[in-house]
Amino acid sequence: MKDILADRTGKIDASGIRKVFALAAELKDPVNFSIGQPDFDVPDALKEEAIKAIKAGHNKYSQTAGDRLLREKITERIKNEFGWERPAVLVASGVSGGLLLAFMALINPGDEVIIPDPYFVMYKHLVNMLGGRCVFADSYPDFELPVEKIAEAITSKTKLIIVNSPCNPTGVVYSDEQMKALAEVAAEKEIIVMTDEIYEKFCYDGKCPSIANYYDKTLLLRGFSKSYAMTGWRLAYVAASQSLSNVVEEMTKIQQYTFVCAPTPFQKAAIAALDYETSDLVEAYRKKRDLVYEGLGDKFELVKPGGAFYAFVKAPGAAGATQFVEKAIANNVLIIPGNVFSEKDTHFRISYATSDDKIEQGIEILRKLA
Ligand code: PMP
Repeated sequence: MKDILADRTGKIDASGIRKVFALAAELKDPVNFSIGQPDFDVPDALKEEAIKAIKAGHNKYSQTAGDRLLREKITERIKNEFGWERPAVLVASGVSGGLLLAFMALINPGDEVIIPDPYFVMYKHLVNMLGGRCVFADSYPDFELPVEKIAEAITSKTKLIIVNSPCNPTGVVYSDEQMKALAEVAAEKEIIVMTDEIYEKFCYDGKCPSIANYYDKTLLLRGFSKSYAMTGWRLAYVAASQSLSNVVEEMTKIQQYTFVCAPTPFQKAAIAALDYETSDLVEAYRKKRDLVYEGLGDKFELVKPGGAFYAFVKAPGAAGATQFVEKAIANNVLIIPGNVFSEKDTHFRISYATSDDKIEQGIEILRKLA
């Protein structure tokens, strides 16, 4: 069987998460801290918009770059937020879709992509699959944006720097100063910065800064999956200033030959989603963040997350995180070992996107294991 597979399949490794799922298969009603999606459902008003769109016959392909009205609305938002005149906008099938298109449009074999470690797992595997080389900039132990390390890592082969704030898996939100500093570093060699802002709404201690405010060679990715709990609707957008319009154009061309377009009726619902007020949902998630931080902060080494719905916690003892994760799973708590998101295996990720009861139950068990 092995001989029929393309070489690139050997560059993808799903073993970390698979191991957790294999261990979890036997559990009854576990505390599930492993899932990267909100525990609420799509708001009813947005479900109605999707149903309305289906009934109105918006069931065929949309334009490759996305529904005209949705793109117009996104364009207006981006213009107002970043002051970009005529921004390039592409509606993608999830941020995942946008990432694949961006990497395909930008990465030649041997090109280097600088990624703060820990990182969202998809970056590494997609870059590897396309023959690029990941260069990791260590952000332990505080998980702040490692601007100096990124600057030191730049070579003549550097194609892209990736920023993800609020960050999966750490929940850390990078400051304005850090974003400005990175913008200066990138501008010196005119390196493109890709900013993954899928958790932009889940921001608990003030507004989340965007590097797009400080650097025009920024490729911005924002999604609908997390903000409105529509992970299955596969919707996101990519935006850039005119200085990167050729990149977005090439991405659109690749979309034409791959995804074709994002799901049309859900694009119609996304127009309403852009105006949907999420502050109540975010407030509920701020409380969950506090529950986790207050519940574990005195027993574990843990940076207070400022956004997203993750906490990246140092595993106790010297045995490494994987061993602690196995122990936690044996005690009915599903967590993910840090080496899924990092070159190190010292921490574990908690996703607190679950009910407050489950969070309290999970905290109690983890405290006993500390
Ligand atoms: N980026 C980050 C940082 C994520 O955590 C996720 C989802 N886990 C994605 C991108 C992909 O999300 P989607 O494809 O659903 O938009």
